[in-house]
Amino acid sequence: SLGKLYLGMDFGTSGARFTVIDEQGGIRVEGKREYPRFVREESMDWASSWKATLFALLEDIPITVRSLVSSISLDGTSATTLILNRHVMISFRCFCCNLSLHHHRHHHGQYQVIEMLFDSPLLVQIMCTSESGEVLCRPLLYNQSCPDALPEVKSIAPANHTVCSGSSTLCKLVSWWNLKLPNRESAVLLHQADWLLWLLHGRLGVSDYNNALKVGYDPESESYPSWLLSQPYSHLLPVVQAPGTSIGNLKESIRRQFGFPDDCIVCTGTTDSIAAFLAARGTEPGKAVTSLGSTLAIKLLSTKRVDDARYGVYSHRLDDKWLVGGASNTGGAILRQLFSDEQLERLSRQIDPAVASSLDYYPLQSSGERFPVADPNLAPRLLPRPENDVEYLHGILESIARIEGKGYKLLKEMGATEAEEVLTAGGGAKNDTWIKIRQRVLGLPVSRAVHTEASYGASLLALKGAKQNSGL
Ligand code: ADP
Repeated sequence: SLGKLYLGMDFGTSGARFTVIDEQGGIRVEGKREYPRFVREESMDWASSWKATLFALLEDIPITVRSLVSSISLDGTSATTLILNRHVMISFRCFCCNLSLHHHRHHHGQYQVIEMLFDSPLLVQIMCTSESGEVLCRPLLYNQSCPDALPEVKSIAPANHTVCSGSSTLCKLVSWWNLKLPNRESAVLLHQADWLLWLLHGRLGVSDYNNALKVGYDPESESYPSWLLSQPYSHLLPVVQAPGTSIGNLKESIRRQFGFPDDCIVCTGTTDSIAAFLAARGTEPGKAVTSLGSTLAIKLLSTKRVDDARYGVYSHRLDDKWLVGGASNTGGAILRQLFSDEQLERLSRQIDPAVASSLDYYPLQSSGERFPVADPNLAPRLLPRPENDVEYLHGILESIARIEGKGYKLLKEMGATEAEEVLTAGGGAKNDTWIKIRQRVLGLPVSRAVHTEASYGASLLALKGAKQNSGL
C-alpha cells in the first residue's frame, strides 16, 4: 500500500473543502471552494451548486495526487435531505391506439432486464426517459423546519426521540410525502453526503448510521424501528452502513475523466460535526472535544449510549463506542458582541490564568439555555461589570469554562464515560490563556486539537474503508 492516498471532502454550510492524506494521516494536499450561486426559478439551486463544487474539488487535486487516491469519503450537513427518483422511467406508447404504458426499471448500479408479457405483438415507441436519481424536489436544508409534519411524527415516534424536532429528516420526509406528488412510490430519500457520494459510485439508496439518526434509524439494533417501517413512506428509507464502509468502485467515467486508479473505492460518510470530531482523533473512551465557536459544543467518546431530550443530549454510534454530545448557547458570539478579536487577544495576554476569578456570569446573547441547564427562559448574567476590561474578560472566560465543566459533569451523571482529556476546536481554541483557565477549572488536561477540519475526518473514514476493504 506504499504511496496510496485517501481523499476526504466536507460539504459545510458555506463551502466545501478537501483533504488528501497518506496512510499515516499526514496531509498531502488541501483545498476549498465556495458554493457557486446557481439560481433557478428565483431560488438557490443547491443540488446543482453542490454537484458543481464536488467536481471542482476533484479537479483542484493535482493529477499526480489523484492517480494515487485509493479511497474517497465525504461528510455533509446533518439533516440536509434530498428526495430522488429511484427508477429509470420509460414511457412506451402504442402506435395503433396511442395508449401509453408506463414502466419503471429498477436501477441498482446496473440495468435489469424488464420482463414484459404481451398477449399479442405490440408496436411501441419509447417516448422519453428520465434518469434514475433525478431530484424530485429542492433539497431540504439542515435548518429548514417542517412544523406541519411535527404532530404526525410525534404521534408515531417514542416520546422525546430525536426525530421529534421540526427540522429532523423525518419531519422533512413526512412533509414531502403529504404533498401527495405523483412520484411518491418510486422515490428514495438521501442525505446530502449520501447524494454526493452517489454521484461518485452510482448505487442509489445507501446511507450511514450517523446521517440516518435524524430520520429515525436505530444504530444500536442496526435497523429502522417497527414504528417507522410500518409507515406508508418506509420504502423511501435508504440502506444504512457504518461510516467508512466501502460502497463500491468509483464510477468508471469519473475515474477516466479525472485520472483516479481503477480500484479506487467510495466509502460511506458521516455528518459534518462528527467528521470534525474524527479529525481531532480522540479515539479512546474519555477523550472529548470542546468546540469554542459562536456556541459551545461538547462531544465525548463513551462506552455507554446516553440520551436526554430535555438537555438536547444524544449519542451517535462510532463503531463499538458512542459519541455523546451537548451544546450550550454560551460561547464566542457573546464575546464577539463585547470585544473585537484583537481586544480578545490583547486582554487575554494580561490575564493570569493561574488565579481564579471571583466573578460569576452566565454569558448568553439572548435568554434561553438547553445544556447544561435546561431552561428556555434563563436570562443572560453579565453583571456586575468591573471597570477593568482584563478583569471582566477573565470573569467571562472563567464562567464559560465553568459551564463547560458542568456539561462534562452532567454527561457523567447521565452515565457516559468520565471525560479524561479535552481537545479544543473552533475560534476560541487559539486562546492559550483560556486553555490554561479551562485546564484549572475542569481539572483535566486541555489542549488545542492538531486537526480540526471536517474534511480531515472524512479522509480518515476513507482510510478506514480502504483498510477494511483490503482485509487489514
Ligand atoms: P463559528 O464557526 O461557530 O462561527 P468560529 O469557530 O469561527 O465560530 O469561532 C469564532 C468565535 O471565536 C467568535 O465568536 C469569537 O468571539 C471567538 N474568538 C476569536 N478569537 C478569540 C480569542 N482570541 N479568544 C477567544 N475567543 C475568540
